[in-house]
Amino acid sequence: MASAPPQETSTFVGHPPLPSYEEALGSNPQDPPMPYAPADMKTSVPPYPTQAYSPMYPPPPHQGQPVTSPVVSVQTVYVQPGLVFGSVPVQAHCPVCARNVITRLEYTSGALTWLSCAGLTIFGCIYGCCLIPFCVDSLKDVTHHCPNCSSVLGVHRRM
Ligand SMILES: [Zn+2]
Repeated sequence: MASAPPQETSTFVGHPPLPSYEEALGSNPQDPPMPYAPADMKTSVPPYPTQAYSPMYPPPPHQGQPVTSPVVSVQTVYVQPGLVFGSVPVQAHCPVCARNVITRLEYTSGALTWLSCAGLTIFGCIYGCCLIPFCVDSLKDVTHHCPNCSSVLGVHRRM
């Protein structure tokens, strides 16, 4: 009776065979094959999606889905709160006659007019020169009137 040498079998038990390449990569044989396997590289179908670039901006509204994004509707409304009455005629809405009008300006002497007069007097501009600010419209307050009903729509004060 020939008996196998026990040393050789014990050697294999102590050193199991090394895992194969696929086992080392951790691939499970139950997994479906990869769609972009290297074998498909030579086929006509590109391994990457045909839409190479993802849209950086939202798609235009004509791509099927109804537009649900908040679109600010443009309305031709002459907003009154943002209206600033300055030294030039402006377009305003008169609440009295309910019309959009271009304001008519009226210059009245205000604080800046009197301060300019006092300043000229202090610096020696007497004998009527101190009255020059009362003739300069850019130193006066501006009152905006409605050209139709002459109602006051706004006042622009220099100081
Ligand atoms: Zn009016």
